[in-house]
Amino acid sequence: MDNLFQKNVSLKPYNTFGIDVKAAQFFSAKTVEDLREALLNAPGEKFILGGGSNMLLTREITSPVIHIALKGIEIISQTKEKALVRVAGGESWHEFVLWAIANDLGGVENMSLIPGNTGTAPVQNIGAYGVELKDVFHSCEAMSVSTGDLRTFTLEECQFGYRDSIFKREIKGQYVITSVTMELTTKGHHKINTAYGAITNELERMGINNPEIGDVSRAVIAIRQSKLPDPAQLGNSGSFFKNPILPKATFEKLLENSPELPHYPAGTDMVKVPAGWLIDQCGLKGYREGDAGVHEKQALVLVNHGNASGSDILRLSRYVQEKVQQTYGISITPEVNIF
Ligand SMILES: Cc1cc2nc3c(=O)[nH]c(=O)nc-3n(C[C@H](O)[C@H](O)[C@H](O)COP(=O)(O)OP(=O)(O)OC[C@H]3O[C@@H](n4cnc5c(N)ncnc54)[C@H](O)[C@@H]3O)c2cc1C
Repeated sequence: MDNLFQKNVSLKPYNTFGIDVKAAQFFSAKTVEDLREALLNAPGEKFILGGGSNMLLTREITSPVIHIALKGIEIISQTKEKALVRVAGGESWHEFVLWAIANDLGGVENMSLIPGNTGTAPVQNIGAYGVELKDVFHSCEAMSVSTGDLRTFTLEECQFGYRDSIFKREIKGQYVITSVTMELTTKGHHKINTAYGAITNELERMGINNPEIGDVSRAVIAIRQSKLPDPAQLGNSGSFFKNPILPKATFEKLLENSPELPHYPAGTDMVKVPAGWLIDQCGLKGYREGDAGVHEKQALVLVNHGNASGSDILRLSRYVQEKVQQTYGISITPEVNIF
């Protein structure tokens, strides 16, 4: 086991915030057998690392770090309308989306350019531009951290919600997702989803009237590149906070003082409010404390301007939470996993 894990590895290249903390022990699992061996033989609690795009590292990681690097994409069955595609947990999500489009398989194009691994996608039910993983999800295979046994989770068993699943709640830390199987549409059966206004506008700008899945993907990529900082240029973890979901009565009270408050329905008697708007209204867009900052274009994104530590970003995130609480009486919670 000793020679399986490397000692004292910097995690800076492995997290999109670009935080320089060390892993006392680090192992990249390229096969399911590797993963089982590492899980069963390394002592104590394990730290599972995917693409590092949804985590803030505030300290040295003393638990053995297991980096998920399982590869492979295969079509496991196909009818005239649909294809079941199984993707290994360590495949990059965006590379998989590009693969789907190249093979004329639809359903994931609106989720182009979301960073991270495909194996992590079910953990928070990733989503963007009107589509969530659960809309294409068929099942996933996961390995028990304690026994090394593999089991399948169905759509129902995953209990997906807004940026939420059973993997973040009841069975948090108990399973490593080794592959995700999705049901994608085939040529002639795609359901183009341009309900999000920005996509329609971008397609118009591109001069496209009858978009194909590849056009939607290109439009989403263009919008995202214009709005979100590229982690390779400016460290970040995407949306740092979740959009708060409020009871309708609370929301209506808020509306009296802030009639311009944007909002979206979120199920019976609940309303979703954009956290980025709240942060912006508190005057925090572009706010900076040393190298930790709120992004100048998108207030929902916290950024590392260079040498911020995880604690610097965490301190800033608490300041942002306090300001929103004081100004609007709304509590916003991190979407990012803090370690
Ligand atoms: C610029 C930017 C834009 C983003 N935009 C979006 C967006 O539009 N929509 C969205 O939903 N998200 C978005 N995100 C967040 C992020 O991309 C997703 O949450 C992604 O699924 C994280 O994957 P990862 O492999 O990087 O996870 P990591 O950060 O490596 O891990 C996240 C958590 O999952 C656990 N984990 C990792 N792999 C596994 C596994 N195989 N099995 C079980 N647990 C595991 C980790 O232990 C950790 O707790 C964005 C991030 C960035 C940086």
